[in-house]
Amino acid sequence: MVKKCEICGNLIPKERVEILPQTKRCVECSRNKGTDFYAKRIDVGMDVDTYKDLIGAIRS
Ligand SMILES: [Zn+2]
Repeated sequence: MVKKCEICGNLIPKERVEILPQTKRCVECSRNKGTDFYAKRIDVGMDVDTYKDLIGAIRS
């Protein structure tokens, strides 16, 4: 599955899409412009710290 960021047009890493299939933004834009998926973390079933660690791991 390949998705592009709705803001910058860069490809969103597939690992991110797999975990956050509804996301429309790359990690950078989510951080810079505001995430579009914070509500989704409830669905994912993570607390915020775990979630941030996960996103950081994907980004690195
Ligand atoms: Zn982007």
